[in-house]
Amino acid sequence: MKEALENLEREALSEIGKAADKDEFLAIRTRYLGRKGLLTGLLRKLKEVPPDERPLLGELSNRIKERIAGAIDAALEEREARSRTERLRQDALDVTLPGRTVQFGTLHPVTQTTAEICSIFAKLGFSAVEGPEVELDYYNFEALNIPKDHPARDMQDTFYIAGDTVLRTHTSPVQVRTMEQQRPPVRILSPGKVYRPDSDVSHTPMFHQVEGLMVDRDVTFADLKGVLQYFLHYMFGADRPLRFRPSFFPFTEPSAEVDIQCVMCGGRGCRVCGHSGWIEILGCGMVDPAVYSNVQYDPEEFSGFAFGLGVERIAMLTLGISDIRLFFENDRRFLAQF
Ligand SMILES: [Zn+2]
Repeated sequence: MKEALENLEREALSEIGKAADKDEFLAIRTRYLGRKGLLTGLLRKLKEVPPDERPLLGELSNRIKERIAGAIDAALEEREARSRTERLRQDALDVTLPGRTVQFGTLHPVTQTTAEICSIFAKLGFSAVEGPEVELDYYNFEALNIPKDHPARDMQDTFYIAGDTVLRTHTSPVQVRTMEQQRPPVRILSPGKVYRPDSDVSHTPMFHQVEGLMVDRDVTFADLKGVLQYFLHYMFGADRPLRFRPSFFPFTEPSAEVDIQCVMCGGRGCRVCGHSGWIEILGCGMVDPAVYSNVQYDPEEFSGFAFGLGVERIAMLTLGISDIRLFFENDRRFLAQF
């Protein structure tokens, strides 16, 4: 009987050693330790054994039962641990592989130039204000001293949306809207998109402007010159010669255009400057009293100046770009250079 028990243990342990998967281990457990299993079957024969040998054999069979069960548990646990390790090994990251490069974008050159212009004027106390691109005729023209039959309307071709609604042709409407809501002192910049039906190497139907307005007591043309000189010297270099030329705009009187010495040829004359040595860079003037009357400012009390410049034009000169359309083709090879 003792021998039969020991044989059974040996066989069980040997089968456990060969088992390949969880199902086989569970089958071994049932075959040996189950209610109809081999060990239980052996123990039934215990009553045929002399009574004084029974306790020892009973004890031995309990130990064998524990050892077989323990061996199955240990084998199952080991299997589980092995497959966990295997899973971890397969999921592991290879930190030596080269990474995926992240492509950084850059700000569009027009955005960069707008920001630079605004930051220079910010040093002089000008803050940026925005307004609608779809604008009422009143703000785009009439409030700026350009009535319906005024010949100045021919100076600016216009996209009309409906009778009284246009795509703004300049950012000046923002100045009127600001003055309607604010008493002087006013010191603002209005950067943004504007629209005119025009298209060639130096014109696009949509382009960007920055306009400025300063209104206060005792503002003179000398202040206008000082502010614009400060800006242009900051933008194009302190030794860049400037000149103010008399001009005409319906909303300013007197009006002027400002030229800088050509940045391409240094004044000797080239294709860019039309062989004149000068490049027109902005328009400006003292705000016409007729504009003040539309916003209930007293022209006897307040005076001021306004100016406007095209951002693409400045960007073309500072970055050395010869075709304005490059700004809007969205070619990454072009844009990534800035
Ligand atoms: Zn030139």
